[in-house]
Amino acid sequence: MTNPIDQIKLNKLAEVAVKVGLRLEKGQDLVMTSTLEAAPLARMITEHAYKAGAGLVTTLFTDPEATLARYKYGHDESFDRAADWVFEGMAKAFDNNAARLAIAADNPMLLANEDPDKVGRANKAMSEAGSPVRKRITEFWVNWNIVAYPGADWAKLVFPDDSEEVAIGKLADAIFAASRVDLDDPIGAWDAHNAKLATKSKWLNDHDFAALKYTGPGTDLTVGLAEGHEWMGGASRSKNGITCNPNIPTEEVFTTPHAHKVDGYVRSTKPLSYSGSLIDDIKVVFKDGKIVEVSASKGEDVWVKVLDTDEGARRLGEVALVPHSSPISQSGILFFNTLFDENAACHIAQGQCYTKCFKDQDLSSEQVKSAGGNSSNIHIDWMIGSDDIDIDGIKQNGDIVPVFRKGEWA
Ligand code: ZN
Ligand code: ZN
Repeated sequence: MTNPIDQIKLNKLAEVAVKVGLRLEKGQDLVMTSTLEAAPLARMITEHAYKAGAGLVTTLFTDPEATLARYKYGHDESFDRAADWVFEGMAKAFDNNAARLAIAADNPMLLANEDPDKVGRANKAMSEAGSPVRKRITEFWVNWNIVAYPGADWAKLVFPDDSEEVAIGKLADAIFAASRVDLDDPIGAWDAHNAKLATKSKWLNDHDFAALKYTGPGTDLTVGLAEGHEWMGGASRSKNGITCNPNIPTEEVFTTPHAHKVDGYVRSTKPLSYSGSLIDDIKVVFKDGKIVEVSASKGEDVWVKVLDTDEGARRLGEVALVPHSSPISQSGILFFNTLFDENAACHIAQGQCYTKCFKDQDLSSEQVKSAGGNSSNIHIDWMIGSDDIDIDGIKQNGDIVPVFRKGEWA
């Protein structure tokens, strides 16, 4: 069997991850996480990192078969635990300026047939244990990046009518196109794309909206924005001074909503894949920033448990704008993976805010909180955009400016 994944493009993806995604500096360490299946990409990234002068590259591999073995044979009490020492070790590395890279390749349905109670408890324990890492990433202490690799189970879910080999090849090509590594000069293409996203962010920042109002089928939602919020997108500067592209691909501009000023109802427009569970047809009602009613046609148990993780989980930590004509959306592919699906539609995220999304970069956690920034042990994006959604910006003086019409920039 020939390898359905174009190895030249895969190698370009590795190069883009190091040179655009991370902009890894000479002497900088790198901590990478990957599934076993994505080892070919992890190895190429390791090579490019060392060629770029990396200090130490350390990869932590996970194995989905081992995860399933846990659900089959693990003691019940173990589902309230997570390996917190791993996250503490990663946090220590970031404190010493290591960069962070994650390869997304997981089967979105891995845990679909497992006990939702165990899945919910394991997710919660993982969210809590991951707190030291999440803090450093959402506060953007170091340069970080996520890229994707076409895992076989993931590919079969996205292309169910094809053989495994064909499905992997198709998902690989979709990842390469979205990540701009099918072009002659991917790095130049990323520079141009970053400039475009910066223009959109600037337009939104110049308007300094107090709130965004979304209307469409099943949606009538007003999202107040945090005081002093700043819109960002594409490349941005982390606290260690390195300007990186955290997501490859990325099509969004995003900012921090006000944790207490979200009202109305909204429904999901794409299924959400979260940690091996699929959650579909989410409908929620917000009151004073908090979700007070929730339903989902699939994965409701897991979703409700996620929302009960902690006090901040029912409040928003991110609001992001993505035109319906984004290349990922145009591909017509439903990826069942947030890195891609969130870049095909406007989305919001439950939980922790990005404290970087403020004009004043030196706010204390108290100041972030009083400006409306949310805190939580989760940060989960879900998609609410479609070609049926209109968005108005409400200015501080009450004036209304069209932002999106029928899913496109107005
Ligand atoms: Zn986002
Ligand atoms: Zn997000």
